[in-house]
Amino acid sequence: MRDFDVAIIGGGVIGSAIARELMRYQLNVAVLEKESDVCVHTSGRNTGMLHAGFLYKPGSLKAKFAVEGNKEFDTVAKELDVPFKRTGKLIVGFTPEDRERLEYFIQRGKINGVIDMELIDRKRMDEIDSSAGGNFAVYCPSSGILDPFIYTIALAENAVNNGAEYFLNTEVIAYERLADDQHLLRTKTGEIFRARWVINSSGLRSAQISEMLGIPGYVIQLVKGEYFVLDKKAGEFAQIPVYPAPTPQFTFDTHATPTVDGNVLVGPNSINVEDGEDYSVSQEGMDGLQESGKKMFKHMKREYYIRTFAGARPKLIDPETGQVQDFVVQRPENTPGIINLVGIESPGLTCALPIARRVVKLLKDKEELTRNPAFNPVRKGIVRFHDKTTQEKARLIQKNPDYGEIVCRCETITRAEIVQALHNPLGVSTVNGVKMRTRASMGRCQGGYCEMRITALIREELGKEIDEVTLTGCGSEMFTGAVKGGMEE
Ligand SMILES: Cc1cc2nc3c(=O)[nH]c(=O)nc-3n(C[C@H](O)[C@H](O)[C@H](O)COP(=O)(O)OP(=O)(O)OC[C@H]3O[C@@H](n4cnc5c(N)ncnc54)[C@H](O)[C@@H]3O)c2cc1C
Repeated sequence: MRDFDVAIIGGGVIGSAIARELMRYQLNVAVLEKESDVCVHTSGRNTGMLHAGFLYKPGSLKAKFAVEGNKEFDTVAKELDVPFKRTGKLIVGFTPEDRERLEYFIQRGKINGVIDMELIDRKRMDEIDSSAGGNFAVYCPSSGILDPFIYTIALAENAVNNGAEYFLNTEVIAYERLADDQHLLRTKTGEIFRARWVINSSGLRSAQISEMLGIPGYVIQLVKGEYFVLDKKAGEFAQIPVYPAPTPQFTFDTHATPTVDGNVLVGPNSINVEDGEDYSVSQEGMDGLQESGKKMFKHMKREYYIRTFAGARPKLIDPETGQVQDFVVQRPENTPGIINLVGIESPGLTCALPIARRVVKLLKDKEELTRNPAFNPVRKGIVRFHDKTTQEKARLIQKNPDYGEIVCRCETITRAEIVQALHNPLGVSTVNGVKMRTRASMGRCQGGYCEMRITALIREELGKEIDEVTLTGCGSEMFTGAVKGGMEE
C-alpha cells in the first residue's frame, strides 16, 4: 500500500493543473491515471482555444475562471514553455438575428469582464482575415490558441519536477472510507493507495467516480465533437479563429481554428453519445462539417484534409429541465476529505489553473498548508529544430549531431527531439506519446515515413522488446506477429 496526502483520480489537464498547484505546498501528491499518458482523452481532443469568457452566464464559474485563465495565460505559457498565440477571434454573422445575438454577447462579455470586444463590418474583417466567412463580426482580441497536448504534458511534468508522483495505467476501481476518515483507493493493477484527501478530476467518468466516492445524483450527457484537420497549406490562409454567432442555446456550431503549428481545425459538431471514449467519426458528421465549415473558412477544400478526430464533452445536465449546468467544484461537508469536480466541459482547458487554485483553496480552508520553498513554476520543453533560424539550427547540430538527423520529414522533427521525448519525466514510452510531445507523425503523411523509425528508437533508447512497443499502451501493440513466415531480428 502507498500512502499520500492527496490522491488525484485522473491526470488530464485538470488533474495535472491541480497536482502542479498543490506542489506549491509541502504535500505528497499522487496522480492516478488509467491511461498510458495524460492527454489521451478530452485534454488531447479539443480545439485548443484560449477562450475569452463572453459566452458564459455572468456569475458562473465558467465565466469567472475563463476570464481569469485568459488574462494570465501569457505568463503561464512562458513559465511552462507552451506554444501559444494571442490571435484574437472573429465571431461572424450573416443575418439580422445573428447581429442581435452578437450585440447581446458584447454586453454579456462586458459583464463578465471581457471589455475589448467590438462589432466590425466586412471591410474590417477583410483587413483581419479575408478567408473568414460572414457579413459582419464581433472581434475579440483577447482570445488565443495554444497547444493542448503540450499544455497538459507541461503541467504534469512541472508537477513531477516539483515532487508529485504519476501512476499511469492505473485505473481506480473501488473506494473505501476508513475509520480514521482516510481514504482507500483500489486500482485495476492491484496496487492500493491510501490518502487523506481524494480529488475527483476524472473527466468523462466524473459522475461515476463522484458516486463511488459517496456523492451520487449527477447526470452527465456526453456530447461528441468531430473534426477535420487541414494541411498547413490551408493554414497559410487562416490568420485567426473564425466562429459562427452563438446558437440560441448559447453554444457555437462548427468553427475554423488555426492551430499554433499552422494547421486548421474545422469542427466540432455536437452528437449525443453513450460511450464518450468511442472516438470513431461518422460519414454523416463529416459531410455536415464540410458544409458548415465552408461558411466559416473559404478554403475548406478536400485536398487539404489530412485526418479526422473526435473528442467528447462531459456536460452536466439538470435532469428536470435538460439545461446544461455550470462546473461543479465542491468539498461536500458530509464526505470529508473529498474534493469533487463534475461536468468540466468547455472551457475547461482555459480554466484549468483557476479551477486548480479553487481546489487548493477548498483544501486550505480545512487544513493549514506549509509553503514549499523549493517549488519552481518553470518547465522547459523540447527545443524544436523546425522553429529555429538557419544559424540556430547549425548551432544545435554542432552541439548535438542528433539534431542533424530528420526522423519525421513532414514536420521536420529530428532524432534529438524524439530521444528527448522518450526520456520524458512521466516515463511515457508509447508511439503516441512521442507524437504528442514532438509532432512527429502529425504531418501530411500521418506517420507513413516516420512511425517505424520511432518504434526503432523506442526499442533502442528504452531497451524494449519488439512486442512491447505500443501505440497508446497495452492492447495497441505495434507488432503482433511475423509477416511471411518469419521476422528477422
Ligand atoms: C470537442 C471539444 C472541444 C473543446 N474545446 C475547448 C477549447 O477550445 N478551449 C477550452 O478551454 N476547452 C475546450 N474543451 C474542453 C476541455 O478540453 C476540457 O474541459 C478539459 O480537457 C477537461 O480536462 P479533464 O482533465 O477534466 O478531462 P480528461 O482530459 O478527460 O482527463 C480525465 C482523466 O481521468 C482519467 N480517468 C477517468 N476515470 C479514471 C479512473 N477510474 N481511474 C484513473 N483515471 C481515470 C481519464 O483516463 C482521463 O485521462 C473542449 C472539449 C471538447 C470535447
